[in-house]
Amino acid sequence: MTLEKGTGAQRAAGVIRTGKLAPLQERLKKLGLVSDWDFVLHLPLRYEDETSIRPIAEIAPGGAVQIQGRVVSSQMTMTPRGPQFVAQVSDGTDTIRVRFIHYYPSIQLQLSPGKTVRLFGEPKEAFGGMGLEMIHPRIRVPVENEDSLPKALTPVYPLGENVQQAWIRKRIARALLDLGGMEDLVPAEITTALGLPGLKASLEFLHHPPADASASALMDRTDPHWQRLKFDELLAQQITLRSVRALATSRKAPKLIAAQGSRFIDAFLSRLPFKPTGAQLRVWCEIERDLARDRPMHRLVQGDVGSGKTVVAALAALRAAEAGMQTAFMAPTEILAVQHFRKIAEWLEPLGIRCAWLTGRLKAAERRESLEAIRSGAAQIAIGTHALIQEKVEFNALGLAIVDEQHRFGVAQRLALRSNPHEPNDQTALKPHLLMLSATPIPRTLAMSYLADLDVSVIDELPPGRTPVVTKTVRLDRRADVLGVVRATAESGRQVYWVCPMIEENETIDLTSAVECKADLVRRLPTLRIGLVHGAMPAEEKNDVMQRFEAGEIDVLVSTVVIEVGVDVPNATLMVIEHAERFGLAQLHQLRGRVGRGAEKSACILLYDPALSEIGRERLKIIRESTDGFEIARRDLELRGPGEFLGERQSGMPMLRFADLETDAALLAAARDAAARMCESDPDRAARHAKRWFSAQSDFLSA
Ligand code: ADP
Ligand code: MG
Repeated sequence: MTLEKGTGAQRAAGVIRTGKLAPLQERLKKLGLVSDWDFVLHLPLRYEDETSIRPIAEIAPGGAVQIQGRVVSSQMTMTPRGPQFVAQVSDGTDTIRVRFIHYYPSIQLQLSPGKTVRLFGEPKEAFGGMGLEMIHPRIRVPVENEDSLPKALTPVYPLGENVQQAWIRKRIARALLDLGGMEDLVPAEITTALGLPGLKASLEFLHHPPADASASALMDRTDPHWQRLKFDELLAQQITLRSVRALATSRKAPKLIAAQGSRFIDAFLSRLPFKPTGAQLRVWCEIERDLARDRPMHRLVQGDVGSGKTVVAALAALRAAEAGMQTAFMAPTEILAVQHFRKIAEWLEPLGIRCAWLTGRLKAAERRESLEAIRSGAAQIAIGTHALIQEKVEFNALGLAIVDEQHRFGVAQRLALRSNPHEPNDQTALKPHLLMLSATPIPRTLAMSYLADLDVSVIDELPPGRTPVVTKTVRLDRRADVLGVVRATAESGRQVYWVCPMIEENETIDLTSAVECKADLVRRLPTLRIGLVHGAMPAEEKNDVMQRFEAGEIDVLVSTVVIEVGVDVPNATLMVIEHAERFGLAQLHQLRGRVGRGAEKSACILLYDPALSEIGRERLKIIRESTDGFEIARRDLELRGPGEFLGERQSGMPMLRFADLETDAALLAAARDAAARMCESDPDRAARHAKRWFSAQSDFLSA
């Protein structure tokens, strides 16, 4: 056997790789291990009990044990799978077989007949009723008596590439010693009231628990020492969010109050062809209250696709106009911005409100005109892409900023909005109110944690008269049948979206796939009018295609995910998504939300690769079974965990490593209270706690 291949155990542990290894420090950094503090927070995955020796006669399969005995015999044997090394070890109570499928000469030596050895491994029923055996046990020096055994359970740490268990154990033990005098920054009265142990005691316990510690409490992290660390983590997060919020709300905002009665809002509501839902009105009331205050609003409105967030945004903009102030309304994509512009202008211009339009691609003259209208105050509302905040757009009196589909902007932009680019650096200047809209429902516990710097309103009701979208999953090899459905839909005068597989988040590759997909559909559906829209297309072309689709001049719109957000074409009743298994659940739900916007029955067909994984199958099932965005988000969260669910960029906060927002909701509530008290009584100490906790991730926080 060559050394490069490694032993089976090494291969199984994934520690042998070909190719050059990065230096140890870099590999550790990948694990987030740089300072002593990082090392002490690197907690064991599980423990091994080497604190006692078990008589061979008493051991049974199910869990690793330690034994000690004499090697009765040992020899190399040939098996059909190659040579193996087998020894019989007896301790007087019984004999057990020990087998090495991969071995070095040193093992032969350690297990030569007559030697006494201490072995740690998992007894298993040997093949063919041969009694118990241990495969690849760890061989240790024998002990005289149990007093010389370790007193604590042995920690088993998560390892990175070629980081050895023994090495990391030593490194962490040293870090614990070095941090011996570590300060417990959480006041004792807070931890005592919660029944939580001290910080140092907790860390020592978790790295080296006594032999009688409850294994199950350690594993499911209900042990008080675990609770203490989770608490500290949640506390650090809450302190950070509070400081973000405190900074934002330390400023004054203009009070947006209808000085001469709510004339615009009344006129708007009376002209609207439908009645706002109860949920829309409730959320509007929450916003209205915020706008009337002299502190800047930071409110996120969450509402499922089609719940009617735009109406609520329009109401807020109208209130700003009634107060004589302007609104900036931003959308993440050009397509969506155009749609908003048209819809809002259609709603508001009859009321005598002027809407200006601004994107990065306007012609010079148009652009100048828009900028001038915004600067002079002639336009009460400016609608556009983030060109609105990125460029030097001068507002006459900006009172409100609205960000649609906030999840598409990412947190960096959310924070950029806070440190508003429109305002002079003058800290006494008024800060506009901020309203964000998002169709990505974030479960309540997550929102409480990651969005704690925002107030959240939820539109939890869809407008009446919508027929639910029927969702079907179909294997890709039955694509031809689906083409029949597409043809029938188009022939009955309805329209179809066809979303191409996303190959990578790479526009060129996706474009090729979309172009090929369109060519294929044109060939197979020669009688239909087929259009293509793609993210990498020039904006004019994109808008042109979208407009023709809206006007019913295109039957089938082939696209990549660009249509994901906000598009509103009620005559489209069929959505086909190719390689649905490659999309995120929230994305699939959004895509599906493009249909079912009229009274007509709508359907969504998810074409999937039959070779998809178990999780992939589970995910498609969730989409098929539920049309409730919150339910989907909750189950997605269960499948993926918050890290992937939000993505670090989305959450704007380092991920929680220890606490679990579902199971630790009570701790989260306690941490919120404690953060409030600490920030009040000793803000400096609170800040130090947060900083120390996130020190390993400080690069991220300062980014
Ligand atoms: P989203 O929350 O996804 O942004 P929109 O604001 O685009 O939803 O609204 C979706 C569609 O529903 C639009 O055509 C809109 O005019 C319509 N709509 C909004 N509110 C209501 C309501 N209360 N009753 C009927 N239709 C409504
Ligand atoms: Mg919308």
